[in-house]
Amino acid sequence: MQDLGKSMRDLLNRQNLNSDYQRLIANAINDPDVQAFIKAHQDELAEDVLERNGSKLYEYVSQRDKLRAGHQVFAPGYEPKLVVSDHYVEVTYEPTEDTLLAQKRSMLKKRVHAVSMPKMIEQASFGDYNVDGEEEQRAKALRQAMQFVADYSQKPHEFHQGLYFYGNFGVGKTFLLGAIANELATLGYQSTLVHFPSFAVEMKNSIGKNNVAEKVDAIKQAPILMIDDIGADSMSSWVRDEVLGVVLEYRMQEELPTFFSSNFSMQQLSDQHLSINQRGEKEEVKAARLMQRIRFLSHEVVIQGPNRRPQ
Ligand code: ADP
Ligand code: MG
Repeated sequence: MQDLGKSMRDLLNRQNLNSDYQRLIANAINDPDVQAFIKAHQDELAEDVLERNGSKLYEYVSQRDKLRAGHQVFAPGYEPKLVVSDHYVEVTYEPTEDTLLAQKRSMLKKRVHAVSMPKMIEQASFGDYNVDGEEEQRAKALRQAMQFVADYSQKPHEFHQGLYFYGNFGVGKTFLLGAIANELATLGYQSTLVHFPSFAVEMKNSIGKNNVAEKVDAIKQAPILMIDDIGADSMSSWVRDEVLGVVLEYRMQEELPTFFSSNFSMQQLSDQHLSINQRGEKEEVKAARLMQRIRFLSHEVVIQGPNRRPQ
């Protein structure tokens, strides 16, 4: 193509500008984006491109403007782009930035398998984990969480001890577990978070339906497992031995990273929670076996601070 301005003038002169259609085409040709595109590609384009591709240019401009105005377009989530194909103009549709972002989010969400967890964990991130001035312990917990992610992503096939976060209600234990899972997801790793008291109830309700083993298997084999709120409800001997015991035994044998959160320290969990069955009888040997697995799988980290739950 030689003189763009001249061929455009010739074309417009030849056309009947009274017709609505021709006017729309002329507007499209005069559109600054279209002009810039034609100018940038004039060496590749055929001489009669404006005559032959008027309707393509119109399609591009009209779809772009509809998208900008928030109106219905024929490929929602996609935006029109002009490309050169065999010396002529074609319109292709590419995902918009919002669409790409949404696709990325849904991919990340699929890597975080949450069982009965609060929705807020979807938004949890290291960046939003606020560590206020004086709270050295919180900073330490955050550092250990980040260290785990760094170590795991370097050697995902080796055993890494998870973390056992304990502290009062509302200090952000669940939030931090969520942040670790989300961070791992951005690096391509899958984790499973289970609100343990709810899972225990679900398991009890599944007795007799023949799918307890299946549900326990799914949890025990998770590449990274986070058991949230262990000790929040009293646990029956059956849940302790047939659910938690089975899951932890498997994970210890297979050396799979496992995290916990609890209102109790490991010692308190052992003494006050696991050792006494629902009938009030002491079952110290069984409790000790379970604690041995928890200690093998995780490292105890205290989190303190104010209750951050919206009141
Ligand atoms: P816990 O599990 O220790 O009881 P949560 O993780 O449920 O506490 O946190 C309680 C509330 O505070 C949640 O609504 C959570 O979104 C918010 N939250 C917790 N930690 C933080 C933090 N570091 N920064 C911002 N919000 C937080
Ligand atoms: Mg919690």
